[in-house]
Amino acid sequence: MNVSKILKAIYKVAKKEKVEVYAVGGFVRDRLLGIKKKEADIDFVVLGSGLEFAKKLDKTLKEEGSLVEFPDFDTARYVFTKELKDGTKKKLLEIEFAGARSEAYDKKSRKPKVESTSLEEDLKRRDFTVNAMAQQVIASGLSKKIIDIFGGQVDLENKILKTPLDPDETFSEDPLRMLRAARFVAQLDFGIDKSALGAIAKNKKRLKIISAERVQEELFKLLKTSNPSIGFQILYTTGLLDEFLPEISALQGVEEIYGQHHKNNFEHTLKVVDNIAERTDSTVLRFAALLHDIGKPGTKSFLKGRGWAFDMHEHLGLKMVRTIGKRLRMSKDDTEYIGKLVRWHQQPIQLMDEGVTDSAVRRLIVNLGDDLDDLLKLCRSDITTGNPKKLKKRLKNYDYLEKRIEEVMETDKLRDFQSPVRGEEIMKECGLKPGPTVGKIKTAIEEAILDGKIKNEYKPAKKYFEEIKDEYLKKVNKWERV
Ligand code: ATP
Ligand code: MG
Repeated sequence: MNVSKILKAIYKVAKKEKVEVYAVGGFVRDRLLGIKKKEADIDFVVLGSGLEFAKKLDKTLKEEGSLVEFPDFDTARYVFTKELKDGTKKKLLEIEFAGARSEAYDKKSRKPKVESTSLEEDLKRRDFTVNAMAQQVIASGLSKKIIDIFGGQVDLENKILKTPLDPDETFSEDPLRMLRAARFVAQLDFGIDKSALGAIAKNKKRLKIISAERVQEELFKLLKTSNPSIGFQILYTTGLLDEFLPEISALQGVEEIYGQHHKNNFEHTLKVVDNIAERTDSTVLRFAALLHDIGKPGTKSFLKGRGWAFDMHEHLGLKMVRTIGKRLRMSKDDTEYIGKLVRWHQQPIQLMDEGVTDSAVRRLIVNLGDDLDDLLKLCRSDITTGNPKKLKKRLKNYDYLEKRIEEVMETDKLRDFQSPVRGEEIMKECGLKPGPTVGKIKTAIEEAILDGKIKNEYKPAKKYFEEIKDEYLKKVNKWERV
């Protein structure tokens, strides 16, 4: 299913049912900007019932697509997918139908009272002028005529984000729009209208009526853009960032004692996020980059003879990640993954500075497991010195570190690492039941391998086991014996 085919199909049904259908929002905006996205996503407004229209369309479509109905909102969504060779499904196109509607907001809640209305009224309730344009679906596809009541085309030309109505009202009614503003500024590389900026600062406290899930979703959309820092700067300067990620605002600032100052961790963090955006599309990994230094303000100290120090900030960072994960209702897996990267992000750089010993490399490989590649991307992005000569040198050292990791991984076969003498065998040889002693012996063998005392092979491991086992059996609990 492609865009022109679906437009034709929509037109046929619209003609038969005698209703007008318009493409609106991001699709119209991106077409005018000449942006082609990998995954098209089109919103349609129906002058009638969105749900009924989608159902009628569904009957005429022969191709694979699944209709999801939202009767409460009079909307429905289609997702067209293609099955790939490996059995996974790839999204080709997503379209949504909604009846033209106006929304009246109650001050206290996010739930608006919805009433069906004209196209003009529908466009009024949209977030930004560049998102409030429509094009009718006609026989040849989309009409050239653009319905543009609020000057969206001029704003596109001037690359500026403005609200169709008074920004104070727009943001107060649905505070999520403030986050969307930051996201669109980054996504489109636009400026933002001064009064809109002021209205965000004024209404920032209202973000609390938005659910954590919606905040998280919009935050991740910002992280998905190619220069997220642009959006975070807006969130910071308006104070909106304080309302959902105060840990990042707290990174701002530079302190000076005895003429020594530390780097501005907020600016540094944003640089790291932009850097990692060039290396990965994974928004969770990008989020880890945003959070990597959050432990710094809480561990900052000025030590005589050493200057500024942030000792153990990676440990505090892990704890803080867990708090943030809960607050934003992130999945446990994502939270733990991010926490792990934050916990270990100092390690590769330390290795680089203190000498790349094989045993340290082995420990890094084993501690990180499958997440090592991601950690390496994060730490490469963490190299942000403004001095070009220094930057070049550090990146070169980093290349060397990655090469060493690659080599050690190869020769020591450390993927899915565990003692070559397995628990079963230890129990049999020592006459033990499952219990702490088996675990201790296994760990001792693993430690010896990681320290480079013995090779990661069965024979030397078995020999080592024979040497150390008696020491452990002296201290064994009675109940552990068979
Ligand atoms: P993209 O698809 O690039 O993320 P988009 O503009 O299509 O951007 P969507 O979230 O898909 O954004 O929403 C589609 C349209 O619906 C928007 O262009 C806008 O007109 C309207 N819209 C979405 N969310 C809101 C909101 N919270 N307040 C007002 N209008 C909104
Ligand atoms: Mg969209």
